[in-house]
Amino acid sequence: RPAFDAQAIRADFPILHQEVNGHPLVYLDNAATTQKPEQVIEAIANYYRRDNANVHRGAHALSDRATAAFEQARETVARFINSPAAHQLIWVRGTTEAVNLVAHSWGRENLGPGDRVLVPYLEHHANIVPWQLVCGATGAEVVPVPITEAGDIDLAAFETLLDERVKMVAVNHVSNALGTVNPVAEIIDKAHAVGARVLLDGAQAIAHFPVDVAALDCDFYAFSGHKLFGPTGIGGLWGKEELLEAMPPFLGGGEMIETVSFAGTTFNSLPFKFEAGTPNICGAIGLAAAIDYLRGVDMAAAATHELALLERSIELASEVDGLRRIGSPARSIGIFSFVLDGVHPSDLGMLLDQQGVAVRTGHHCAQPLMDFYSVPGTVRASYALYNTAEEVERLFEGIHKAKRLFT
Ligand code: PMP
Repeated sequence: RPAFDAQAIRADFPILHQEVNGHPLVYLDNAATTQKPEQVIEAIANYYRRDNANVHRGAHALSDRATAAFEQARETVARFINSPAAHQLIWVRGTTEAVNLVAHSWGRENLGPGDRVLVPYLEHHANIVPWQLVCGATGAEVVPVPITEAGDIDLAAFETLLDERVKMVAVNHVSNALGTVNPVAEIIDKAHAVGARVLLDGAQAIAHFPVDVAALDCDFYAFSGHKLFGPTGIGGLWGKEELLEAMPPFLGGGEMIETVSFAGTTFNSLPFKFEAGTPNICGAIGLAAAIDYLRGVDMAAAATHELALLERSIELASEVDGLRRIGSPARSIGIFSFVLDGVHPSDLGMLLDQQGVAVRTGHHCAQPLMDFYSVPGTVRASYALYNTAEEVERLFEGIHKAKRLFT
């Protein structure tokens, strides 16, 4: 079969075809957010041109159309992650809100003094801080799970931490800072064996390989639409039905109620119980458009292509004195995190930007992980299906130029 055609994909992403600081843009910040294909931009524009109305309540044609498109989007996204039912997918703003929803709603009901929430060292702050907040309120404790120098979860250490005190294991499917693909099937099995629940933070996984929540048997799965070529401000929380049914509402307001009186209020059924207020209608529609777009892409070939870009980065990095890759996980997606002797990550990021190369620098919202490696931050190039080998070369030309300037 023909090699993956990243150039053909690029043609669908208008933003990529521009100059930045006098150079053709090289966008290597996909772990922060991905760019949007024309099809997503059009879906959003068309919604506002033709169908815009509030959902689930209007007695008119536009409202019916908006509601149908919004609920069809839920079906599309639910099917994409192989949810048994669409109502198990709650719309949220993104991964951050999804984790907060579970921490507050599930956590306040199910955590108490002496209970533990296990959180690996390589988590994003979005999967650390909500647990600290709910543990602070309930008397439970957040316990970090050690990782290895390579940036993998230390499974032996994880096992020794597992006992009946552990009520939740909150772990990312893929690390945003290192690209580590965590052995979540094994983690879920072992956690369930002691009666713990597992929340997977899928922010970085969802755009890179198929996610099957039913096969994984996780209890909750959180993700953001904007990392999947969809718009910002929309994401999903998937949960097992019996858990979602038993959980109290997170936010109160319109849409999430059945009846309201000052004597007492009853709540709507799933998924609406967790969707107070006017939702991000065009966001959901845009995200479904992104998934429809991806149906036309050979995602397995895209994943191979992204890993080839990572391999090329590792190869080119070996020719740069003083460049140190941070983490070398057993399994990873196309994320290359590194530091360069004598050059602060933010200075390097600035110099790369001057050459039109967009990377992320800093702690990547993973300060405990940076502390583990004793670095203030890293430079991170994160690849998506529209990146090319030429762009990786442009990154390394930039790194060589920065080195010449600084030494
Ligand atoms: N978890 C991980 C692993 C992430 O990469 C991100 C986004 N950087 C988040 C959580 C938070 O996602 P969002 O900002 O879209 O809520």
